[in-house]
Amino acid sequence: MRNRSLRRSSSRGAEATAEDESVPAVRLENVSHEYGSTTGRFRSRSEQAVTALREVSIDVERGEVLGLEGPSGSGKSTILHAVAGLLVPTAGTVSVLGTDLTSLSDRGRTKARRRHVGIVFQRFHLLESLSARANVALPLVQAGLPKSARRERATDLLTDVGLEDRTTHLPGELSGGERQRVAIARALSTDPDILVADEPTGELDTETGASVLELLTNVGRDRAVVVASHDAATLAVADRVVTLRDGAVIEDER
Ligand code: ADP
Ligand code: MG
Repeated sequence: MRNRSLRRSSSRGAEATAEDESVPAVRLENVSHEYGSTTGRFRSRSEQAVTALREVSIDVERGEVLGLEGPSGSGKSTILHAVAGLLVPTAGTVSVLGTDLTSLSDRGRTKARRRHVGIVFQRFHLLESLSARANVALPLVQAGLPKSARRERATDLLTDVGLEDRTTHLPGELSGGERQRVAIARALSTDPDILVADEPTGELDTETGASVLELLTNVGRDRAVVVASHDAATLAVADRVVTLRDGAVIEDER
């Protein structure tokens, strides 16, 4: 097995909630969200509020790969952003390892995200001026790791995703599949408990997408993975699929 750095390390701090096995990795409770919902601010008539989520409740267990399925506009990305603490829903609670993100300050939420959540986007979101290795090491700068340790871990992660001979390449010198592998390595650099992936194979051909999926599910064995997609091949690798329509859960196959 090459993916030794992709595995969750067991030597983490004994934080009460994070180590409590009975707490789901992710819990959304009656989450509703309206974009452009302004409280106390003037809103012109053209600035219509959009209801993106309607009372969504979903639990994701540790080690589970959850697929979020639904047509474009059904609310998949909004859920992932809420889980990552990039967005505070208008109503309801979003808990990560027992911590309610909606009750935290912006700073607290950012901290919780950096500590617990890795994010993979459809369009990779790599910094074009940085090498593959520097991209992977970036979250470790924020985590305060010294430079030599960052380089070592980034190199290990790139080796694990099969890119040991691409560490000094710039994103522009890599194929789409390689870029997504770099993005996955980066998302896993801080050893997050939860990985969210927003249409991670959307830009890739079928074969490349399949190898990226294999990687995602491989890392999901001991962490929670939430993957949004409308692609059948992606949903096929999930342990469980939740179907959304117009911001509401219409099916949860559990
Ligand atoms: P999906 O990822 O399933 O395509 P989204 O979560 O992106 O769905 O979007 C859900 C709904 O919210 C859609 O109607 C979309 O147009 C709307 N929406 C998404 N992002 C914004 C935004 N930043 N501002 C206003 N409306 C948005
Ligand atoms: Mg989306």
